[in-house]
Amino acid sequence: MENLAKTCELCDTAGGKVLWETPVCRVVLVADADYPGFCRVIWTAHVREMTDLDAGERRFLMEVVFGVEKVIRDLFSPHKINLASFGNMTPHLHWHVIPRWVDDRHFPEPIWGKAHQESLPVRRSVADDVLILALRQQLPPIDLLVKTP
Ligand SMILES: [Zn+2]
Repeated sequence: MENLAKTCELCDTAGGKVLWETPVCRVVLVADADYPGFCRVIWTAHVREMTDLDAGERRFLMEVVFGVEKVIRDLFSPHKINLASFGNMTPHLHWHVIPRWVDDRHFPEPIWGKAHQESLPVRRSVADDVLILALRQQLPPIDLLVKTP
């Protein structure tokens, strides 16, 4: 009999260190020394696209993404934030929130592009506890998630 079971990295694992979570989505820290503060916002349910969410869910998810962006700006002082949602390899809805610096390894390419330099300046280091506290203060309460009738 054919085995139809599929595995999904974001269903099977947290996808990083969980910093904040609600029943519908979570924020995880991506362990990447080149990009301190790099977070992913992962929708809990296995859905492919933003348009699989209802309007209230979409608004809530984007409020979380923008809240993470603000916290990363405040704590890590990047020159730019890259927001990205691909899911080509892992078609489970998630957003990347990536701090960028003009002297980072891949500048001006996306971080998945060609690296332009090897050695890196030392970035500001922020303890995970500080990041967690800032996210708790910034991110929307779950009761903002209003179901669209
Ligand atoms: Zn999944």
